[in-house]
Amino acid sequence: MKTKILNTTKNDILQAAAIIRSGGLVAFPTETVYGLGADAFNSEAVGNVYKAKGRPSDNPMIVHICRASDLGQLTPRLSPDIVTLIENFWPGPLTMVLKKKPEVPDRTTGGLDTVAVRMPDSRAALDLIAAADCPIAAPSANISGGPSPTRSKDVIADMDGRIEAVICGDDCRVGIESTVVDMTGEMPTILRPGIITAENIEAALGKEVRYDETLLKGSLHGVLDPSSGAADAPEGFKPKSPGMKYKHYSPKAEMTVIEGNRDNVKKEIERLKGLNEKLGLKVGVILFEEKAFIEAAHDFFARLRDLDNEGVDLILAGALSDTDGVGFAVMNRMLKSAGYNIARV
Ligand code: AMP
Ligand code: MG
Repeated sequence: MKTKILNTTKNDILQAAAIIRSGGLVAFPTETVYGLGADAFNSEAVGNVYKAKGRPSDNPMIVHICRASDLGQLTPRLSPDIVTLIENFWPGPLTMVLKKKPEVPDRTTGGLDTVAVRMPDSRAALDLIAAADCPIAAPSANISGGPSPTRSKDVIADMDGRIEAVICGDDCRVGIESTVVDMTGEMPTILRPGIITAENIEAALGKEVRYDETLLKGSLHGVLDPSSGAADAPEGFKPKSPGMKYKHYSPKAEMTVIEGNRDNVKKEIERLKGLNEKLGLKVGVILFEEKAFIEAAHDFFARLRDLDNEGVDLILAGALSDTDGVGFAVMNRMLKSAGYNIARV
């Protein structure tokens, strides 16, 4: 398949919308990461998204809308809390898991009775959805398992020849995927952390929000710190073993996260770098400023891809504090990228 390279002009957006309407796949920029979109109500088109990505078909997609009034097509009810979150955070990087209407295809929701929905804060994405005149189901536009694409060149590297078109826009402002909050239970529950934090959602709702237990267990101080009292690993979870079930966002290089006191982390990175280079390995380092959480979110996936393109064998990454909500979101990605390979210093 020849992939059309489009830009964000009105004409190109209309072309892309026509492709979506006729059941094709288009990658497009959002403020979080690039998405790989299909008509959310076209089961066959959505099936092709899984194929193009090599994504397991039980991993549901986020449905992107361009106006809140489109929610009525997707969900039968909106609680006051859901309305409050829409008012506070849409358009923006917050995905809500809602009860789904039967009309939403099972392929789109991975067979669940819920649907994940968000309104992206990106002109190109909103224009595309409006022109296509249908909700667009879109996971990240990368080959499944690899780092999410935050620049059009990353999308082209993964998707050229696999999809009908790519809309090349600006680099993504946020750089990590949206926060996913499940609004179907008693208490709002964060299933995936993002730059909209639990504290942000709590402040908007005036009530407690919790993190899904698996998220906490897979965090720096969950599984890996026995003194935290939360050391029980989820089923099948084997820290430090590569290729396991929880490995996502993985670069081609081996990767280790170095965690601890800042000075020790820097020293250890230098030491490991020196040792490995002496042994003939090419080493890349990812070390963000200590409190530059937003910048780290913005750069993290791009850094992984750049280091892979440079052909490094080993990536050494300094852990950020995960007591900050955005730091927690970045660490969620960093630990998964490294397959939970952690060195504590
Ligand atoms: P991606 O599109 O690659 O950013 O991934 C979408 C994320 O949203 C995945 O982690 C999904 O598991 C999650 N997700 C999508 N729909 C649902 C749903 N109905 N319930 C729970 N999680 C969902
Ligand atoms: Mg993804």
